[in-house]
Amino acid sequence: MEKRAFVTGLTGQDGAYLARLLVDKGYEVTGLVARRATDSMERLRRLDLMDRVKMVEGDLMDTSSLIRALKNSGAREVYNLAAQSFVATSWEQPILTGEVTGLGVVRLLEAIRIVDPAIRFYQASTSELYGLIQEPVQSETTPFYPRSPYGVAKLYGHWITINYRESFDIHASTGILFNHESPLRGEEFVTRKITLALANIKHGKQDTLYLGNLDSKRDWGYAGDYVQGMWLMLQQEKPDDYVLATGETHTIREFVEVAAEVAGFDIAWEGEGEQTRGVDRKSGKPIVQVDPQFYRPAEVDVLIGDPSKARKQLGWEPEIKFADLAEMMMKADLDWVAGGN
Ligand code: NAP
Ligand code: GDP
Repeated sequence: MEKRAFVTGLTGQDGAYLARLLVDKGYEVTGLVARRATDSMERLRRLDLMDRVKMVEGDLMDTSSLIRALKNSGAREVYNLAAQSFVATSWEQPILTGEVTGLGVVRLLEAIRIVDPAIRFYQASTSELYGLIQEPVQSETTPFYPRSPYGVAKLYGHWITINYRESFDIHASTGILFNHESPLRGEEFVTRKITLALANIKHGKQDTLYLGNLDSKRDWGYAGDYVQGMWLMLQQEKPDDYVLATGETHTIREFVEVAAEVAGFDIAWEGEGEQTRGVDRKSGKPIVQVDPQFYRPAEVDVLIGDPSKARKQLGWEPEIKFADLAEMMMKADLDWVAGGN
C-alpha cells in the first residue's frame, strides 16, 4: 500500500505524536489544520515536524474542505483525531461539540465515500463513552452510558463509524482510548494543569494550584504508546473496535502527590470537600486548593480499561504507566518553565 496518510487534528497532542510516528515509518503525511487567529503549531515545533508534514487548511464543519483536502492528499489512510475534545467545555458549547465531535465524523466519512471508499479510516473514540460505568472494568463489550455532551457526541461518532463499515464496507476502525497524556497534553486537562502549575510554583511564578474533584479515578497512559495502537488498527486485514488502556486506575490526588514529589514537594492533605488543601510539608505552604468552579455538572467517577483484545490481536502493549508518566510530564514542565515558557 502507498504510504500516504491524512490526519485531522494534526496540531493536537495525538496529531503531533501520530505524525511523528508516521513520518518515521516513511509516510507522506498531510494534516488538516483549522484556521485560527492564534498560533497552534507549538506541538509540531516541539517534535520538530514543521518541515516534515504537509499542512492543508480545512475544518470538520466544512465538508467541501474535507473532500478537497482528502483528494489532494492522495491518502490511503485517514486518522480522524480532530474534535472539541475538552469535556468541561462541552457543557458550555454543547452544540459546537455536537457539530465538530459528532457530525464532523460523518462529514469525513462522506468525503471518503466520495473520494475513494477503499481509504482506511480510524475514528478517535473514547472511554468517556462508558461514563457512568456499567461494568467494573470496561472492554469493547461494555455498554455505554456517556455523561457529558462530549461523550454523547463521541457516541454518535463511534456508531456512525461502525454503521459506515457495515453499510458501505469501509475499512473503518474505532479506538476506544482511555485517557492518555504527555508533555504535549492540552494545558486545561488535569494532568498537564497539575504539572505545569507545580513547575510554575517551583519557579516562583504561581502560588496555588486550584483543582476540582480530587477523587475521580482515571486509567492514564502515554500518548506516544497510544498512537502506535491507532496505526496498528489500520494495518489489520479487517476493521474492528479496540480498547487501548493500561488496566490501572488512580485518583487525581495520587497524580498530584507523585508529580509533587518529583518537583521536590511533599504534599499533606488537610480538610475535606471544598475545604481540601494540599500543604507542602517542607515549606508549610498550602500549594493546592479545591475550587468548586472546576466541579462538573455530571462526573465520570472512575474508568479502568481492559486492553486484552488489543494485546492479543494487535500485539499492542502500553510501555509507560502511571508513575513514569507523571514523572516524565513533571520533569518536562520543570524544564519548560525554566526555559522561560
Ligand atoms: P486535542 O489536543 O484537543 O486536539 C484536537 C485537535 O482537533 C486540534 O488539532 C484542534 O485544532 C482540532 N480541531 C478542533 N476543532 C476542529 C475543527 N472544527 N476542524 C478541524 N480541526 C479541529 O486532542 P487530543 O488529546 O490530541 O485527542 C485526539 C482525539 O482523540 C480527539 O478526538 C479526542 O477527543 C480523542 N480522545 C482523546 C483522549 C485523550 O486522553 N487525549 C482520549 C480518548 C479520545 P486547534 O488546536 O487548532 O483547535
Ligand atoms: P477527562 O477525563 O477527559 O474529563 O479529562 P480531564 O483531565 O479534563 O479530567 C479528568 C478528571 O479530573 C475529571 O474527573 C475531572 O473532574 C477531574 N478534575 C479535577 N480537577 C480538575 C481540573 O481542575 N481540571 C480538569 N480538567 N479536570 C479536573
